[in-house]
Amino acid sequence: MTATFQLRREIPVEDGYDLVVAGGGPAGATAAICAARLGAKVLLIESTGCMGGMGTSGLVTAFDPVGNGEEMLVGGLMREIIFKLGERGSLKPRLEVQSHVKKYHAWTPFRVEGYKLLLDELTTQAGVEVRFFSRVIDAQADVGTGLVDGVVVANAEGYRFVKARTFIDATGDAILAKIVGVEVREAGRDSPNIMPATLPSLFTGIDWARSEFRPGAGMHQHDEYLFQAIADGHFSQPDKHLPGMSQVGDQIGYLNGGHLFNMNALKVKDLSDGAMLGRRLAHEYWRFFNKYVPGYENAELVITASLIGVRESRRIVGEYELNIDDYLARRKFPDQIALFNKFIDIHPHDTGDDEYERFRADAETQKRLGPGEAFGIPSGILVPRGWTNLWVAGRCASSDVEVHGSIRVQPAASMMGQAAGTAAVQSIQTGEPACDLNTATLVETLRSQGAHLPQPHLRPTMTRNREGSAH
Ligand SMILES: Cc1cc2nc3c(=O)[nH]c(=O)nc-3n(C[C@H](O)[C@H](O)[C@H](O)COP(=O)(O)OP(=O)(O)OC[C@H]3O[C@@H](n4cnc5c(N)ncnc54)[C@H](O)[C@@H]3O)c2cc1C
Repeated sequence: MTATFQLRREIPVEDGYDLVVAGGGPAGATAAICAARLGAKVLLIESTGCMGGMGTSGLVTAFDPVGNGEEMLVGGLMREIIFKLGERGSLKPRLEVQSHVKKYHAWTPFRVEGYKLLLDELTTQAGVEVRFFSRVIDAQADVGTGLVDGVVVANAEGYRFVKARTFIDATGDAILAKIVGVEVREAGRDSPNIMPATLPSLFTGIDWARSEFRPGAGMHQHDEYLFQAIADGHFSQPDKHLPGMSQVGDQIGYLNGGHLFNMNALKVKDLSDGAMLGRRLAHEYWRFFNKYVPGYENAELVITASLIGVRESRRIVGEYELNIDDYLARRKFPDQIALFNKFIDIHPHDTGDDEYERFRADAETQKRLGPGEAFGIPSGILVPRGWTNLWVAGRCASSDVEVHGSIRVQPAASMMGQAAGTAAVQSIQTGEPACDLNTATLVETLRSQGAHLPQPHLRPTMTRNREGSAH
């Protein structure tokens, strides 16, 4: 039996917040800004020194597609952020933002320092109190009533117990939800295969004019060179899936490459070993690009990410669990808080050919919505089942593992954050609990903030699985 130690100490209490947001990634930063714009007193707790999460500290410097080939699906604050980044020259050089945002299957690469600065400014202007280098490590809650009383925050000043009327878990890993006893699903426990993680990196010295995507070169632009390098024994693992290098500056690229297979992000040893392996793989890709790929002869690895790129770890069980049948049916919901189009992007679980072929089939044909199509994201995936003043937003929202492969990305996380922040303020103003919020009002407010929610009929009650969905 593991020995235990009972920690007993008195810690200072802080009170008076309407909302505490744990985690300042695309979900948490958006939640905090949107709630503060509605007049709430918001505290954002972020363990790193900037907002943006995987998009900044994680060096995932591209937003997944925000349009479906006919229209821009992603509205609200995410839309505002993309256009503001465009105005400031903080998107990929020469990107024509007006037409780009409507495109089908088109990523929006951005300059990481521009995004960090914009989030600093937007939170400050909205009046959010941001606490960097601070971590939510514990909480006090009543599972019976579904009420969170406060969270324990650790930082250089010690511990604080911070009370608030509402809470949003935007930690990516559902850290707060797990602590307070929300029912969760965990990769490696509830789904046997864990989607691999990656440690992204930034490169410079790329001659983009000679390295542009060439149609017919394979699913990804470097496949032809990659397969040769694998055949030559260049890599320590024969990984045929290289998501690729995106241009983010005149000579700069963001590499999404180097899978960390079977890494369980809920185990610290796996995370530690994974970070070291990720750095080693980044060097292997550096030498690969120099040796094999035209335009990269003089490329240099500048930095690997300080946050490990976790794709799958823990999701809550919400009032609604969005599932693959909903996705394939392109289902729309009266209480949807977002529309999205991204394919089911579940990276190969190992380096075998079977998994690679499964991934290609999913990504290229079977589990991809076509141009002009979309599926709805209902409000209930943000609400832990039965909870009163707690929401989650982003990667840890409630869905099955397949739909998670679509909605885990930054634009969807941001739209969920906007909905969660707005819902929290509505709950404070009306007294409606999270699990029984008037969703017609929520949708109307989101529309007034520029969210793209064209559903013809609204309904005051949220869609729940027990109503007889396909689940
Ligand atoms: C390798 C890789 C490539 C990807 N490529 C793309 C892409 O091209 N385009 C795209 O749109 N998406 C991409 N994604 C997905 C996307 O980046 C993430 O899924 C998305 O950022 C999730 O947003 P989030 O806000 O839920 O979580 P995160 O971005 O993970 O943010 C969570 C934040 O919470 C903080 N935090 C965690 N625990 C605590 C705590 N206890 N207390 C305080 N703070 C805490 C973290 O420091 C972090 O800042 C990629 C993901 C990976 C791993």
